[in-house]
Amino acid sequence: MNSSEPIVIIGAGMAGLACATWLHRAGRPVLVVEAAEAVGGRVRTDLTPDGFRLDRGFQILLTNYPEARRMFDYGELNLQTFRSGAVIRLADGQETVLENPLHAPLMAFAALASPIGTLKDKILIGKLVAQLAGRPPAQLLAQPSVTTLAYLRRYGWSEQIIDSFFRPFFGGVYLDRELNTASNFFEFVFQQFMQGSAALPALGIQELPNQLASRLPAGTIRLNAAVATVAEGGRLVHLANGETLAAAAVVLATDGPAAARLLGADLPAPTPPAALPTTCTYFATAGRAPSHGHRLLHLNARPDALAHNVAFPAEVCPALAPAGQGLVSVSTHGEHGLSEEALTARLRQELVVWFGPMAHMWRHLRTYRIEQALPVYAPGQPVQQELKLSDTLFRCGDWVSYPSLNAALGTGRQVAEMILG
Ligand SMILES: Cc1cc2nc3c(=O)[nH]c(=O)nc-3n(C[C@H](O)[C@H](O)[C@H](O)COP(=O)(O)OP(=O)(O)OC[C@H]3O[C@@H](n4cnc5c(N)ncnc54)[C@H](O)[C@@H]3O)c2cc1C
Repeated sequence: MNSSEPIVIIGAGMAGLACATWLHRAGRPVLVVEAAEAVGGRVRTDLTPDGFRLDRGFQILLTNYPEARRMFDYGELNLQTFRSGAVIRLADGQETVLENPLHAPLMAFAALASPIGTLKDKILIGKLVAQLAGRPPAQLLAQPSVTTLAYLRRYGWSEQIIDSFFRPFFGGVYLDRELNTASNFFEFVFQQFMQGSAALPALGIQELPNQLASRLPAGTIRLNAAVATVAEGGRLVHLANGETLAAAAVVLATDGPAAARLLGADLPAPTPPAALPTTCTYFATAGRAPSHGHRLLHLNARPDALAHNVAFPAEVCPALAPAGQGLVSVSTHGEHGLSEEALTARLRQELVVWFGPMAHMWRHLRTYRIEQALPVYAPGQPVQQELKLSDTLFRCGDWVSYPSLNAALGTGRQVAEMILG
């Protein structure tokens, strides 16, 4: 590999930035070219004119992610954590608060004579906690899999706890309320929740990519630089503006569909997995947001609901809302087929029933519809596909592994190690 030319990384999402970070730390020249006007890819935060910081879709960092612990300075990010647990709105409209369901499961489900789960269900949660404690995350991910739903049934949990706890909780993580996502990923995520916290940087999720970008030398990242094609097996990169860049090697750190487009016919182009959509609708409240559990996620187990998960991010990170106002983030997973206006009206009706008539007054701020939010991760899918396509062409990102920040960061690091090694 000719080392006088830079390694060109296409995409400044978490995978591309992680790869650039590791290469730069080892002294290799790197150039990151990014189509968008800012770094982050799917990890972005918008500052509105009236002072709200809105993440593009509700998203959290699990602080125990092995790759995140290697990569970020948590102190500098000023991470703020949700409380471990959730407020759950059950199918009959009743609400229950679970404190620490994955850390202290027996207490959580037994507390308040919780209407969730049978005695056997509670014992099984304790059994899984014990079973996963201390197991290396890579070992959990390497296991054979079935769908999460099949796994939960096989483990012996009742349909009642599946519908009232697992479906709204893990369906929210996967953006898949059918729980078709592979069970090896379920065990990984369950363990990550058990052993760490769900956190947000004080100024929003984009502080994650911003921190990585800030450590690269000036000029390393070119924004507004869409790549049109990759040629000569990774030695040339043609930008959409007509410019050509010479490269020692190319790293495709785009999302799956973009990687398939860029590789072209004469290069190996594996089909990217399908992706799951989600919609995040933000409302502003005058005064503090009326959450039903301070710093807790609110999950909706009602099967007919569109307000699947509700969070009050400014309770956790006050700087996300201007002083004296609150922020409500409502996630709707999957296809709903509604216009923004119709969805907002439907959500408002549900929120009025859930949080009271003051929800009529909440001001709709913005709606983010994210078509390609998470790649599908189905049973039997490999935990990681080949990252090296040739000596001068590599790829990384969640879509070549599993749907998580940890996978994006980890595949970026592994590509850097392959290039350096
Ligand atoms: C709403 C939502 C919620 C999520 N919640 C969580 C969560 O709670 N926890 C978790 O771990 N993960 C979560 N994720 C997943 C996580 O955000 C992703 O796994 C991760 O950000 C993927 O990073 P990436 O670098 O692989 O891809 P991307 O972020 O998609 O980055 C690819 C980059 O390539 C650029 N690009 C594409 N084509 C070109 C081109 N032709 N030229 C130049 N640049 C190009 C894109 O602009 C983009 O910046 C969530 C995702 C979403 C959308």
